[in-house]
Amino acid sequence: MHVALISVGDEILAGDTVNTNATWLGQRLSERGVDVERVTVVPDVISEIASVVNEYHATYDAVIITGGLGPTHDDLTMEGVAAALGREVAQSEEALAWLTEEGGYTRGDLTKGTADLPRGARPLHNDVGVAPGAVVQGIYVLPGVPSEMKAMFEDVVEQFEGEPRYVDRVYTSEPESALVPRLEALQERFDVSVGSYPGDGVRLKITGTDEQTVEAAAEWLRERVELDE
Ligand code: ATP
Ligand code: MG
Repeated sequence: MHVALISVGDEILAGDTVNTNATWLGQRLSERGVDVERVTVVPDVISEIASVVNEYHATYDAVIITGGLGPTHDDLTMEGVAAALGREVAQSEEALAWLTEEGGYTRGDLTKGTADLPRGARPLHNDVGVAPGAVVQGIYVLPGVPSEMKAMFEDVVEQFEGEPRYVDRVYTSEPESALVPRLEALQERFDVSVGSYPGDGVRLKITGTDEQTVEAAAEWLRERVELDE
């Protein structure tokens, strides 16, 4: 399963907010064997949101978009998603009913627009905050507030499934350039992929769909590099 993530918000582009939502979703999805193939940050502008949603909707099995829900002037994600699908936003009676029956709000408490979703979308209830999310044609619209986003994602997590992956890691103190021939030999010998992440030493991440192959590859490498432990 191939998924793209979109984070909405001027504050992320300006560097005021760290995009922990994309990092968290990337980890949660990867551990389920789902391939995250894009992470894109877009500003709070309907046409920009619509253009990226439209492209990714056509390319990936699912799109997860976070941030910009709620009824304030800079919350434009529902409009952007609706525009990408050539729909309007419309008040969701189902979302309103949940907010009043389960959420403990009266209709009068709710700012106008709170329950506006792309027409035909299924609402996702927000157990932590107010603004509902939505699912429409494989596009999952989740809140920006991390605690709200995480709770809502867990409600739909079953929709995200891929081939299980196994990971093993090897840490070496050798410079990355010196490792190239051994990493090539490793990949010829074992059906795994290898990520090489230099920093303080080099972190080598071995990933594959067969657990024993991954273990054997990691062992093969440990015997051939200077270990940094
Ligand atoms: P609400 O449901 O409360 O209306 P929202 O969906 O409107 O939330 P935003 O207005 O986009 O969310 O962002 C609310 C807050 O959530 C931001 O101030 C920021 O702290 C945090 N936030 C938004 N996007 C991200 C992100 N990608 N990673 C981490 N934090 C984020
Ligand atoms: Mg908001």
